[in-house]
Amino acid sequence: MADSSLALHGGRPILADPWPPWPVATPDVMNAVHQVLAGSRWSVTGPFSGTPPLDRELGRRLALLLGQAHCVVVDHGSSALLAALYALGVGPQDEVIVPALTWVACATAVCRVGAIPVLADVDNATLTVDPAAVEAAWTDRTRAVLAVHLYGSMVDVPSVAAVAERRGGVMIEDAAHVPGASWAGRPAGSFGTVSAISMQQGKVLTAGEGGAVATSDDTVAAALEAIRTDGRRYVGMAPIGEPDLVEVGVPTGWNMCLSEIQAAIALAALDELAVQHGERARGATLLDELLRDIEGVDPVAAYPANDERAYYHYALRVDPAAFAGRTASALGRALSAELGTWIHPPYPPLTANRLYQPHRSSLWLRHADAAEFDPGRFRAPVAETAHRTTLVLHHSMLCAGERHLAAVAEALVKVRHQAASIEFAT
Ligand SMILES: *Cc1c(COP(=O)(O)O)cnc(C)c1O
Repeated sequence: MADSSLALHGGRPILADPWPPWPVATPDVMNAVHQVLAGSRWSVTGPFSGTPPLDRELGRRLALLLGQAHCVVVDHGSSALLAALYALGVGPQDEVIVPALTWVACATAVCRVGAIPVLADVDNATLTVDPAAVEAAWTDRTRAVLAVHLYGSMVDVPSVAAVAERRGGVMIEDAAHVPGASWAGRPAGSFGTVSAISMQQGKVLTAGEGGAVATSDDTVAAALEAIRTDGRRYVGMAPIGEPDLVEVGVPTGWNMCLSEIQAAIALAALDELAVQHGERARGATLLDELLRDIEGVDPVAAYPANDERAYYHYALRVDPAAFAGRTASALGRALSAELGTWIHPPYPPLTANRLYQPHRSSLWLRHADAAEFDPGRFRAPVAETAHRTTLVLHHSMLCAGERHLAAVAEALVKVRHQAASIEFAT
């Protein structure tokens, strides 16, 4: 009897074997890092060493990946969004539309330039920002919309871009989850006036921390260069031992540079990206298949035009009616215990997210219009429901092979049968 009870309650777990690790330092990564450390240049802000910094090579490669003419490498995805908004001239009194279901940095980046994040609800099938909600949220003060691709699904970029164009604003694309995905053959990242990615540890392209911001607009690109280097710009020519950044000063920026050590890691990771995308997509297709007949379980959809998927995690919907009314957070705890890996709900909606309280934080509290930063003034019922009825599986799980993925399906069936025994999550 003990074996049929949930692992959460001391029963035998469905799976005892480990899952694939993430991230992984291949010999190529180790070697690339060693080479940087053995050299004299550890950052683009250091002196010229006789060869261009890896920072430039990484920017060039990411511009190609994202389908833009220019790409500037930065220290975090959060910095990439901040730089994008600043380079586009977004600032105090402006509004920027942000999806209600996304990582907190998408909204805080807007706050950091002094603009007001306006939260828009997501589409129930793909969990990406709903173009109709973007249209409804647009006001005379709106300067931009952040199109955030989420987990494995791209935003309906043509529709959101059309709203922005009609209303005289711009679309910024956040492709942090999906570098390498495509929409009708065009790469994710190529639709925004400016596009950002993150290379934080969990992301499919990672340097531990890191980010990048891409554009095909020469003026915006020049601004981005200065914004990320305290007002300097890379010129690429200097006597050895002297800086190859020139001081321009306008715009005044911050130091958002990525170290050469991280650039080396990212370049090695970039070589693996397409193969890893293939592995994850095969795992996702298999998992789709394995989950097909389980009552109350459905993979989160993608728009048909999203022809090349990139899986930053695998998201699935659970129907509470089939799970004794339990929410995703309770089911996630039970599944984590069965499978020995962390399975969890998606981001809490920004309308009520502990990490997002600018209206109570000193920087914005002193703003003349502090109340405008209060996320509680927005409603996002689809995002709120999605948080209670969606589970997120780490992307590394997709590379584990058939036996492990079959265990996911088994664990879902077991948890469904025993759902009534799980305590309601607080
Ligand atoms: C991770 C992430 C960011 C922020 O990137 P950091 O590198 O963690 O600063 C921004 N947007 C999305 C969608 C992300 O997932």
